[in-house]
Amino acid sequence: MQYDTIIIGAGAAGLFCAAHTGGRTLLIDHAKRPGEKIRISGGGRCNFTNMYCEPNNFLGENRHFHKSALSRYTQWDWVAKMDQAGIAWHEKMLGQLFCDEKATQIVDLLVKDAKSAGTEIWLGCGVQSVDHGPDGFSVDTDQGKVQARNLVIATGGKSIPKMGATGFAYDIARQFGHEVTETRPALVPFTFPDGRFAALSGLSLPVRIWNAQASFEEALLFTHRGLSGPAILQISSYWREGESVTIDLTGGQDLFSALRDQRQKEGRRNLTTELGRLLPAKLIDFLAPELGLSGNLADQSDARLREICDALANWSVTPSGSEGYRTAEVTLGGIATSGLDSKTMMSKHQTGLYFIGECVDVTGWLGGFNFQWAWASAHAAGKAIAAG
Ligand code: FAD
Repeated sequence: MQYDTIIIGAGAAGLFCAAHTGGRTLLIDHAKRPGEKIRISGGGRCNFTNMYCEPNNFLGENRHFHKSALSRYTQWDWVAKMDQAGIAWHEKMLGQLFCDEKATQIVDLLVKDAKSAGTEIWLGCGVQSVDHGPDGFSVDTDQGKVQARNLVIATGGKSIPKMGATGFAYDIARQFGHEVTETRPALVPFTFPDGRFAALSGLSLPVRIWNAQASFEEALLFTHRGLSGPAILQISSYWREGESVTIDLTGGQDLFSALRDQRQKEGRRNLTTELGRLLPAKLIDFLAPELGLSGNLADQSDARLREICDALANWSVTPSGSEGYRTAEVTLGGIATSGLDSKTMMSKHQTGLYFIGECVDVTGWLGGFNFQWAWASAHAAGKAIAAG
């Protein structure tokens, strides 16, 4: 069967691209349902974009590649689309926009738009191979061979293999002579040996977290396996095995002044108890042996109080690993942007071949940036194909 465009991957990028390509378009996915990651994202409410989206919210070998697509399809374009469709939304925090009701409203909208544009959608359909010959692309699928002038690869990254994630895009990229940068799980919780923080499991507090590359102010969450929460997910994209991260547990409070004042008023109060009034008591009890906390406030010199406060503001931990692709929200790295045209997302090696969404070496921070990249890169490719 002959099409103008075949898109493989009916996730965020593939679905949105299908609404713009024009001509006869076929959208194929091996999953039974389209947009599964949209459905589970943002706790079922999908953090679909970010009000403050800008290029430095993204990682990748080329710090400029993503600027073009993101500037031609912005967060406000997506917001306008939501408004037009009557999907209510709200800002949760830090510019993160979520659906008021449910993420499936977005999946339904994308499917409706793709179908209105005349796209045929084949779900539960595996793809065996892709070839290119004089007549264009030939794709071998569970439902037979299909051909098209344009082929868009939108099969995402490797995160959450249980949901059908594969390295398919990277294989196709290599087949056509593209480089693939190192891929690794990102936006992922850290693990520690021996259930080190199990006693604190469920405890959450606002922190600042940093390493040599980046710094974030977000919430930290202790879990049975280690450390999680937005602060950890954010820094995980900048972390490598064996490295430590530093965490300011004070939440920006001037603990030293508070303790010193209290020492003047009620010096016989227990140091650990007093600290436990300023920070979660469970956390202070847990850290007491590590920080050598003992005695009353009156027993502590200014220098000792400063030492304790500094230790709490510069708590250094070295994760033994991460939870990996099993729970990572995204894959860092991917198809090298040096082989793609930033305006159209077309391959520089093979005319008519496009790569969009998460499979490309462009990775956003936590907070709606990854969907914005999916929308923007899909729009760039879709418009280029329609104009083509
Ligand atoms: P995907 O959405 O992953 O779609 C790829 C599609 O390709 C899938 O349908 C898959 O079945 C199909 N496919 C894969 N391999 C094959 C193959 N071999 N043959 C045929 N089909 C194939 N980002 C945000 O911005 N905000 C959020 O709130 C957010 N929450 C998230 C929560 C979770 C739990 C996870 C895992 C991710 C979250 N993300 C979020 C990241 C976001 O979901 C992805 O960045 C985005 O879905 C990428 O879109 P994509 O279209 O490139 O890939």
